[in-house]
Amino acid sequence: MDYWAGELGNNFIEGIQHGNVMDSVYNFLKSDEPKIKYPYENLFLDNGAFAIFKNNYHQKKKKVSINLDTIIDIQEKLKPRYTVPFDYPLDPQMDIRKMKNNWQKTIENIDYWDNSTNLNLIPALHGWNKTTLDKNIHVLQKKDFNYIALGSAFILKENFKGFFGDRQPNKNIYEAFLYLSSLGKKLDIDIHVFGVGASPLTYHFAAFCEIKSSDSSGYRRKAAYGKIVLPQTAERYAGNGSATFGLKTKNGLTYNKIFSDDEKKKLVECRCPECRKISKHGYRRWKHLCSDWKIRAIHNKWVMEQEEEKSHELIKQGWGAYETFIDKMMEKSRLRYLWEFIKSTKERYF
Ligand SMILES: [Zn+2]
Repeated sequence: MDYWAGELGNNFIEGIQHGNVMDSVYNFLKSDEPKIKYPYENLFLDNGAFAIFKNNYHQKKKKVSINLDTIIDIQEKLKPRYTVPFDYPLDPQMDIRKMKNNWQKTIENIDYWDNSTNLNLIPALHGWNKTTLDKNIHVLQKKDFNYIALGSAFILKENFKGFFGDRQPNKNIYEAFLYLSSLGKKLDIDIHVFGVGASPLTYHFAAFCEIKSSDSSGYRRKAAYGKIVLPQTAERYAGNGSATFGLKTKNGLTYNKIFSDDEKKKLVECRCPECRKISKHGYRRWKHLCSDWKIRAIHNKWVMEQEEEKSHELIKQGWGAYETFIDKMMEKSRLRYLWEFIKSTKERYF
């Protein structure tokens, strides 16, 4: 599964290097001259629909008005590798009529973008149950798209009851992934899922579901909350002195309490741009990561990109090899039940 690191327009970390990066039109709505200022190789530019929808939905903030041509102008100026025609997200609170209406407007935009731009388009798919997802994915196939994105506010009311805004790993979401990726395989359509892969664990789960690509700014969010990830390991607290959220026992946490021997070894062996500045010593590296959230973000992103490489290598060897790798990773995890569920559900769908 291709991993696209989420970025926030001009609010990027000084010194960060991006390979595949996901940014959003939303971050450039107020720029007179939209320009990407960080180094990157490939840009996937989200249309900002979900962020605008969230902003306007809560009615606390000033409403962001939607002008389709402004969105297209930003997309054309930033010259992304991929981008998404403006879509109208669904919300579980909406009635079916409203959802149908939103999907209709989304389709109209897909045609508008397709007819009026030379952008490389990945349309967003929305559906409110299995039947409509099936129907709507066929609509996109007839329009000759072979790469689509699963809308962020994607819901499956009848069968899965998974609301996509909820980033907690749960069975419904993975069943939805498997359902869609198996459908995509039959139709020769690749699927991107927004906002998945914040940690090695959720990344490998989605990749095993044969999702083509995902993006996450989890590397950044976790870092800001004092957390680091290590290869094949759930997040660990690194602390940042001032932050008190997330972990009640923070003050009692020491290097030896946080990391197992195996994890200390992973820290010693980390070759990320930040750990490399410190000699191969776990405790010193931990201290370095504790010192600044930006350092943690760079470390976290690098770890995720290594996981991506590992995943690509293993999938090339075969799904069996990948399964063995995740089996080992999940051996002692409290989320092992979820992994067992994913494996058995995949057998049903594929
Ligand atoms: Zn590192």
